[in-house]
Amino acid sequence: MNGYGGSILRVNLTTGKITRQPTPENVARDFIGGRGFGAYFLFTEVPAHADPLGPENKLIISTGPLSGLLIPGAGKCDFTTKSPLTGGYASASMGGLLTAEIKYAGLDSIILEGISDHPVYLYIEDDKAELRDAREFWGRGTIDVEKELKDRFGEEFQVAVIGPGGENLVPYASINHDYGRQAGRGGVGTVMGAKRVKAIVVHGTKSVPVADIAAYRQAGMALFKACKESEGLKPWQNYGTTIVTSWCDEVGALPTHNFSAGSFEGGAGLYGPVMRERIVITDKGCFGCPSPCGKYSHARSYDTRVEGPEYETIGMLGSNVGLSNIEDVARANYLCDDLGIDTISAGGCIAWAMECYEKGLLTPEDTNGLELKFGNEQAVFTLIRQIATRQGLGELLSQGVKRAAAKIGRGSEKFAIHVKGMEQSAYATHNATAMLLAYMTCDVGAHHNRSWAITYDLQVGRELVVPEKVARVIWLQNFRPMFDVLGACRLQWVELGIDRDLYVPALAAITGIHRTWEDLEKVGDRIWNLNRVYWFREIQDFGRQWDLPAQRFYEEPPKTGKTAGQITRREDVERLLDMYYEQRGWDSNGMPKPETLEKLGIADLVKA
Ligand code: SF4
Repeated sequence: MNGYGGSILRVNLTTGKITRQPTPENVARDFIGGRGFGAYFLFTEVPAHADPLGPENKLIISTGPLSGLLIPGAGKCDFTTKSPLTGGYASASMGGLLTAEIKYAGLDSIILEGISDHPVYLYIEDDKAELRDAREFWGRGTIDVEKELKDRFGEEFQVAVIGPGGENLVPYASINHDYGRQAGRGGVGTVMGAKRVKAIVVHGTKSVPVADIAAYRQAGMALFKACKESEGLKPWQNYGTTIVTSWCDEVGALPTHNFSAGSFEGGAGLYGPVMRERIVITDKGCFGCPSPCGKYSHARSYDTRVEGPEYETIGMLGSNVGLSNIEDVARANYLCDDLGIDTISAGGCIAWAMECYEKGLLTPEDTNGLELKFGNEQAVFTLIRQIATRQGLGELLSQGVKRAAAKIGRGSEKFAIHVKGMEQSAYATHNATAMLLAYMTCDVGAHHNRSWAITYDLQVGRELVVPEKVARVIWLQNFRPMFDVLGACRLQWVELGIDRDLYVPALAAITGIHRTWEDLEKVGDRIWNLNRVYWFREIQDFGRQWDLPAQRFYEEPPKTGKTAGQITRREDVERLLDMYYEQRGWDSNGMPKPETLEKLGIADLVKA
């Protein structure tokens, strides 16, 4: 199949048996690759109600048809599993250089199943695939282990690795790669830890078949040329995602003190230009990227070198926990990376604990004397370590805010900022109804990257509750994740303003199949609906109430900042859901209707 590695690698960790199977053509036709493969294999292969940490759950690592080819940012890899954090669907995307090597080893997906009885790492070199003893690496940080594996096998090998967070089954553990890239959300690293797989080491030398080489070259060159000529290139390269920090602060979207406000008094210390000036050493990009947004930094007060922090980490481990010094945020970022936990969920849990402390719901007795005040950077560092090792208060916080609040009770559920059990990423949504809806309905929980609709709120009126806003959220949800299906980065389209139609001839030249964006959006819609049915299948009481946002966003207007006094009304939350379900073709409880599944060609798949 043109554009594909051609094989799926199945690794049974219980038996140690490793097999290669041809990539099914019908799955490539209907789900294309990447996130689409993940959704298909999760739905069809993992039995209903499987324990996320048990042998029946699978970790599915997939490339897309653009991965590893000369297309801007074609280095995206998808990790899909049943989430130990939410109990539903999880998919996390990671950049860097890993996906190209997987593809060059002739692979479209690697599926880890079963559980090993001792720590192992998976070694792949073209057709060779072996499980090797990893006892010497267990308990060690991701950075140290990645370096040692690269020293042992060579720089051409790429490494994905978990840290103590994954080993200790923290439900929001990450998988790390290239000393700073993460598949962060939903606990994909936890599942890898449960399977006792410390790392994947991969290198390939095979070529990827392409349908029309001349047309591929031409289409690829057109995309790179458009990137190079974009006016957005320079600012994006200078600041990466931190370009939005000051904007979020100004418009009241910067999460502050556990999302109690959207503007931060000390925000200026975290802005992109300040970070560039104070700590950035160099720019760092993923495979084939003409617009490297990664910022490699040196926080001199800690002598800490780290890739980042990027915007989400600045929001969640900066303003949201009251830190205004970018060096402190860089240090917190490094600790999360090395210990292998998601910076967004960690920041959300720590901010919630700080608010509990402020309100007297957690006392010095509970924290072992730790002063859990907003702005105490040492408390943040200590809690990150405790979470990853599940010690002290870290045991409670490692469970995520939903479970932690259920345990503490006494009203703390109201300011546990999550949807479906996943901590909300770094946009305060007190008065931004499209972004609020995007969080409410995101297929993994409160994550921003499927539908980054906050700019649309600002454009059309942030408090408006109208069908056009809902339609925009749905369009983004069907369209944006398609980049994770194709295996390329979306940010050249988002940030450099590259015409998305330039991808159409590239995809056609590579695969030999002409697909318009309309065709691709239909695939996006199919995946979205399949995932929605998956939630219903896995969780007995799943439905409308699972789509509600944190109470804070419709009950407690911020006291300060641009959005002071503003709030979305509860009745508008319900109206948003009504319109959303109707436009999606779902019933009033949020279940896709039979005719919707029929139209998308997945009615039989779902029935089976
Ligand atoms: Fe990677 Fe950033 Fe380039 Fe996207 S824009 S490919 S995330 S470096």
